[in-house]
Formats: sequence, C-alpha cells, structure tokens
Amino acid sequence: MAFELPNLPHPADALEPAIDAQTMQIHHGKHHATYVSKLNEAVAGLDVPDDIDALIAALDKIPEAKRTAVRNNGGGHANHSLFWKLLAPKGKGGTPSVKLADAIKGGFGGMDAFKEAFANAAVTRFGSGWAWLVVDGGKLKVGSTANQDSPLMGQSIAGLAGTPILGLDVWEHAYYLNYQNRRPDYIKAWWDVVNWTEVSQRFDQASK
Ligand code: MN
Repeated sequence: MAFELPNLPHPADALEPAIDAQTMQIHHGKHHATYVSKLNEAVAGLDVPDDIDALIAALDKIPEAKRTAVRNNGGGHANHSLFWKLLAPKGKGGTPSVKLADAIKGGFGGMDAFKEAFANAAVTRFGSGWAWLVVDGGKLKVGSTANQDSPLMGQSIAGLAGTPILGLDVWEHAYYLNYQNRRPDYIKAWWDVVNWTEVSQRFDQASK
C-alpha cells in the first residue's frame, strides 16, 4: 500500500486573508505531495504500518538506511495531514470546548497566556520546524520540534513527546509568499483560522 496525499478539507482560498490561496496550493500540492512521494520511495519493499502516525511512532523498526528518509518524509506527511485538519475558515473554527478551556486554564493560566506561550515556541524555533500543543501523560504541554519531527516520535528523537492536538508549521514555505520574514505576523493571523472544534475532539481522544 502506498501513502496518499489527502485532499484539503477546504478550498485553497478559504483561509484568506490569514493564509493566501497560492501558499496553500504550493504548500499542499508541492511540498506535502513531495513528502508523500519520497516517503513511498523510502518504504518501498518494507513491511510498515498503513497508519502514518503508527509508522512515525516506531522509527526504530525502520532499517537504519531508510530511517532518516522516513523520519523526514513520514514526519512531513503526518504533520501536514494533521495541519490541514486543524485549519478552518475565519469564524468557522468554533471555540475550545469547556473541557479544553479548563485544561488550558489549569495548565497555562488562561487562553491569553497559552497563546503567548505557543507563539513564543513558534517564534523561537530557529530555522524550520513546528510549534505544538500536546497531551502528555494527561497534561497539556507547549513546545516545538525541528524540521519535520513530530512529538509522536518521542522525546529522544523529537525533543518533545506527546499526542499533538494543535500544530503550527513555521517553515518559511508556510508563510513566505505573504509574510516574507514576518513570522510573528503569520502566527498572529493563524489564530483566526484555528479549527478549535477539531482541537477539542483531539483533546478528548488524547485524554482518554
Ligand atoms: Mn509545511
């Protein structure tokens, strides 16, 4: 079985002005598509899980010669597949569930303090990577990873462990056309298109 590029859940222009249509088209149709095709090349002939999250959570099972390619491209496929689902047009993303809002209050002091911590993780990730909100051992945690590493890969590989429930791509390819070097402006605008309904569902599942 080969991994496949998922469709975007919304038209490419649905997230404007926070994320412009051309950025979405190139990001999904070129960058994500390339991760998928390179992942398929890397796992050709190997017996690997069909589920991409299960695959990247067990990189130690991948032969060493293919491990870096699976880490980078499998991580890229997993992270982007999640990222698209976590976006919704402005005004359509709902609000955090009561349970999630309570957990954010308990973990960070409130929504504003959480957003500040998350934005700080995103701004201070040097070079390419991701900022995350994860559930780890029943607790919410904010952090970041380099390149296409996922918290699902665990602490020893990604430097952050847990089940990601919110993630922000801070590679330049995610924002450069519209924001150039202004990563903080991209992060600020992205809050308008977070799909809190999806984040809340993922929080429920990860907290079970
Ligand atoms: Mn990306």
